[in-house]
Amino acid sequence: MHIAGSTASLTPQQRELIELAATLGRDKLAPRAARYDCEATFPFENYEDMRQAGLLKICVPKAYGGLGADFATYVMVAAELGRHCGATALSYNMHVSSTMWSGFIADTLDMTTEQRASHEANRRVHYRNIVEDGKVYSQPFSEGGAAAAGKAPWGTLAVKVDGGYVVTGKKIFASLAGAADFYGVLCTVDKPGATQRDSLYLAVPAEAEGVSVVGDWDPLGMRGTVSRTLLLKDVFVPDSARLMPEGLYFQAALRYPHMFATLSPTYMGIAQAAYDFTVQYLRAEVPGMPPVKRRMYPTKQIAVADMRIKLEQTRALFLQNARDAQVDPDKDARMRLYAAHYSIMENANALAALAIRTCGGQSMLKSLPLERLYRDSRCGSLMLPWTAELCVDRLGRECLYESGERDEAIEP
Ligand SMILES: Cc1cc2nc3c(=O)[nH]c(=O)nc-3n(C[C@H](O)[C@H](O)[C@H](O)COP(=O)(O)OP(=O)(O)OC[C@H]3O[C@@H](n4cnc5c(N)ncnc54)[C@H](O)[C@@H]3O)c2cc1C
Repeated sequence: MHIAGSTASLTPQQRELIELAATLGRDKLAPRAARYDCEATFPFENYEDMRQAGLLKICVPKAYGGLGADFATYVMVAAELGRHCGATALSYNMHVSSTMWSGFIADTLDMTTEQRASHEANRRVHYRNIVEDGKVYSQPFSEGGAAAAGKAPWGTLAVKVDGGYVVTGKKIFASLAGAADFYGVLCTVDKPGATQRDSLYLAVPAEAEGVSVVGDWDPLGMRGTVSRTLLLKDVFVPDSARLMPEGLYFQAALRYPHMFATLSPTYMGIAQAAYDFTVQYLRAEVPGMPPVKRRMYPTKQIAVADMRIKLEQTRALFLQNARDAQVDPDKDARMRLYAAHYSIMENANALAALAIRTCGGQSMLKSLPLERLYRDSRCGSLMLPWTAELCVDRLGRECLYESGERDEAIEP
């Protein structure tokens, strides 16, 4: 089954890249997934394969030697990868995000002529790192405070100095910690009265003095992301480390909210994998399993029909997001986005749970992928800025209030 449902409306590039992801996923990522999950280690081999296949430069604009994939193409490729190894797809999203923010999103933002010129010069440096040297970037934004939910300025501070910045702060859940070549860190420019508008997005070299990775990594799921804590202590980075001009991330986050939904394609892939496994299992086609068919029981047929319905609902919302993504979406598009992101994250976990119930006890053994899909899928709706709770929070408020509306004070 194709991750996009029908291939009829796909562009030639979309068909080709999704097929590439499917082959790579089936032949390389899937066979290694259990080991990385068990060891909670980073899938370096998968990254080498993705590098060789050109997937690290998927969203680098063509003018800079990349594949120039747009939002819709990227999310379908990411979902196909997630079908075979959720942890690899999730950390891959962190890498590709650095090229989406600085690439097709930055192209749509308002910048002065000077900002545009400096952005072109800086991104040339980073795209060369990826295209020519196969470097990997990550996206450690979360700090454990209110910033990652978009409610406060970043606590990581960047002091402007001659020729660059000195950065100090702490990032939690930093996927690719110890594996990325550059950490794409969000900070606040340190100046009196700084607000969220003073955001700064910097690529900090992993080897820079003052960078360290600390803490354990032994989580429930998504274990191959190795999302340990990143510490930055008086780290100097040059001006060319700017992945966007000062303040531009704030504008980007407001005007291109679909970027935050790039976390959900991984979970679309997991939802598909849970369904794929269930069909295979009920047909007694899982390699290494005894040939006991279960498909003749009506309860199994009803359960798998329920799963298919939920899967197709999820896919429809996923594809709707892919189509809707654009700068300055209107209010309805934003609300559809929250609803779709919420549904994909929650449905992935619901489908994995249904898959285990339907296939039965033997299916949850560690020798099979289903229990990993179940654990990995649980992580989706915890991810900031759009956890399931925060999606509901935004949606509820925006359903009932128009911009700027306030309630009159209620008499005690
Ligand atoms: C496998 C995995 C990989 C990750 N990788 C990365 C990464 O590479 N980069 C990165 O930046 N982050 C990453 N994250 C972090 C993730 O986005 C969260 O920041 C992280 O899970 C920390 O969550 P928390 O429970 O500390 O959040 P908290 O801020 O403590 O929030 C707890 C819950 O409270 C609710 N909440 C929070 N703020 C508000 C509010 N203002 N109003 C109402 N409700 C609120 C939310 O529902 C949230 O789930 C990753 C997480 C996981 C699980």
